[in-house]
Amino acid sequence: MSVRVGVLGATGAVGQRCIQLLDGHPEFELAAVTASESSAGLSYSEAAKWRVDSPIPSGAADLTVRETDPDAVPDDVELLFSSLPSGVAAEVEPGFAEAGYVLSSNSSNDRLAEDVPLVIPEINPGHLDLLEVQRDERGWDGAVVKNPNCSTITMVPTLSALDSFGLERVHVATLQAVSGAGYSGVSSMEIIDNAIPHIGGEENKMETESRKLLGTFDGAELSRHDAEVSASCNRVPTLDGHLENVWAETAEDPSVEEVEDAFRAVESLDLPSSPDPLIEVFDDPSRPQPRLDRTLGGGMAVAAGGVQTTPAGVQYNTLAHNTIRGAAGAAVLNGELLRSDGWL
Ligand code: NAP
Repeated sequence: MSVRVGVLGATGAVGQRCIQLLDGHPEFELAAVTASESSAGLSYSEAAKWRVDSPIPSGAADLTVRETDPDAVPDDVELLFSSLPSGVAAEVEPGFAEAGYVLSSNSSNDRLAEDVPLVIPEINPGHLDLLEVQRDERGWDGAVVKNPNCSTITMVPTLSALDSFGLERVHVATLQAVSGAGYSGVSSMEIIDNAIPHIGGEENKMETESRKLLGTFDGAELSRHDAEVSASCNRVPTLDGHLENVWAETAEDPSVEEVEDAFRAVESLDLPSSPDPLIEVFDDPSRPQPRLDRTLGGGMAVAAGGVQTTPAGVQYNTLAHNTIRGAAGAAVLNGELLRSDGWL
């Protein structure tokens, strides 16, 4: 039977992707959408300035946008995908969890909290069990699980593969698409014919979230991986798809073939949104490229290429679609894991 779900912040860039991915989903039925006070009361098609590359789903278009308040969401909705600005999410998400809703959230608030699972299902599904600790500590009937920042989620599947060689240190330089900042995030006058070598807060997110994702959960406490991670984040004029240049130092010295085999060996899951293969490996050193490769696996695959061994460690490029694998698709996949693990 389908699980009735809702989307908080459904009119925004990530919220619209969520609505697109939920259309025809085999396990989830969209039953509620929320946004700010200025959108509440309008039909979804009136409130959302639809900018996704497929028609607005008929099952969403006529829904009335609700206020982002637990009392405004029907009780039979079990799972909420949260795509709210992080300041708003910090205020409202705890109230939803207290009211019994399970939230799969994109927002960056609380991603590093000790009792909040930060999950990429193919990489660290066991961290979901941290929800036991969360419910004990907070007394919630509901729960909050987070997906990582879009640039972190692009890199961590390959880092997880490299950990089989003893991951010690990572340097990464990103080329991030404008959609990562939301529709009104970067003005066209700033980004056309340009690249901006700073994205506020992003470097810290890559450094801290990676170590949490690669850490181990012993049933009571989650310890961070001790690899050092340093990131340099750049905004470039691509629409979708974050490309990243990674240098990873490992205790062992794997060959190029061993690294590529390790990437290919990261398994996908038997969940509707998990792509197979999870990591698409290119021999062509000029791939992956955002325009050509961001929609691999329906936008849920990670691409890697240009693997070399250098004095600075294993060097390679990796790419993922930032609003699908990096945001909405990641939240939907976490929802599928919550369902299959019996949290709904
Ligand atoms: P966005 O386009 O600005 O959308 C924000 C959404 O939140 C809209 O639906 C908006 O509704 C609603 N909202 C704003 N203020 C609100 C309030 N006070 N109360 C209730 N709802 C409110 O933002 P976005 O780019 O989709 O990002 C959403 C979240 O995902 C952020 O936390 C962001 O950091 C995270 N994220 C984004 C990406 C990405 O690639 N864009 C990747 C990973 C994570 P109205 O339309 O009514 O204003």
